[in-house]
Amino acid sequence: MTERLYYHDCYLRAFKAKVVDSSDGGHRVYLDRTAFYPTSGGQPFDLGTLAGVAVREVIDEEDRIGHLLEAPLGATEVTGAIDWDRRYDHMQQHTGQHLLSAVLEELFVIRTVSFHLGSEVSTIDVEAPALTAAQLERAEDRCAEIIAEARPVQITFEDASSDLELRKASTRTGTLRIVRIDNLDRSACGGTHVRTGAEIGMVLTGKLEKIRGITRVEFVCGKRALRRAQSDNRLVASIGRALSVPPEQTPELLAALIEKNKSLEKTGQRLATELARREGQDLYANAEPASDGIRKIIQHGSIDDAMRARAQAFVTGQKSVFLAICDQPPSLLLAASADSGIHAGDRIKAAVTASGGRGGGNQQLAQGSVPDAAALAKAEALLR
Ligand SMILES: [Zn+2]
Repeated sequence: MTERLYYHDCYLRAFKAKVVDSSDGGHRVYLDRTAFYPTSGGQPFDLGTLAGVAVREVIDEEDRIGHLLEAPLGATEVTGAIDWDRRYDHMQQHTGQHLLSAVLEELFVIRTVSFHLGSEVSTIDVEAPALTAAQLERAEDRCAEIIAEARPVQITFEDASSDLELRKASTRTGTLRIVRIDNLDRSACGGTHVRTGAEIGMVLTGKLEKIRGITRVEFVCGKRALRRAQSDNRLVASIGRALSVPPEQTPELLAALIEKNKSLEKTGQRLATELARREGQDLYANAEPASDGIRKIIQHGSIDDAMRARAQAFVTGQKSVFLAICDQPPSLLLAASADSGIHAGDRIKAAVTASGGRGGGNQQLAQGSVPDAAALAKAEALLR
């Protein structure tokens, strides 16, 4: 059984231990005692070194803790060193989680059901279908008040029983490790925590996600909260610079710009259609009638609103036929004037059906699509 040194001293960064067992060709090592935290309870494993060899992962095997190493060890008596920046960050996030969960329960009677400490942000899942921005702000404010009081965070070991007054009842039996924030929270937890609330620094919530009746709340604490605030400030300042207004005016300006953009897009579409219509008229005016008196034109390009407007304008002229061919996706458009003697819908349907495609329309305008380039060539030949 591995003695878990972090249970009693979360601030232990270096320790001596004996190798008691190993497997995987010496890559998985077991010690008599360790300060390395293994992944459990939503908190990720520690990194660091054993006798100078990098620890890649730490695994909780209930009685024992497995250390996965970069290379086998040469010695049986080793010194372990914890990557302290990583661990301390985890301690801030994890203790911050206890604080945030306790505050949500204290203020709104919202219970936390699970916790995940991520590499960028952490999350708690809470039993509430939704949370408002005002509730989150109030929770952040309450966390800040408690952090400012620098309440002690104490770890005790107590026998499992129903009168432990835990925030969340534990299903474990025997001795429980209780993490207590003075006058606020008692939780059964095996994780690593800071020794006073002050070391949490700050609790900052982020995005919310609704998942089947529960809400996932993102949050960051400690230095991560500072980094988040710094990067948000830079972002807001850069948006303000790009828009040439003070940051506080950016939401209003952006809303106005979005509206303006929508209106410009509509105007652009209207003008493009108008241009296409005029192109259709010009094409008709410049087209020579064939021996049967029909003016016929073939265009290549996307079959879009502009192509349709061009085609319709062309066949406004007497005795006219307009064929458009698009390579990608393979498709065709046929337009015919009322006096052309051609039914565009029937012709397109016959040509694309014979080419393995589908389509149709009315006498004046019709469209169809075919599976590939060969089918397109076939349909085109039938329509020419
Ligand atoms: Zn904890």
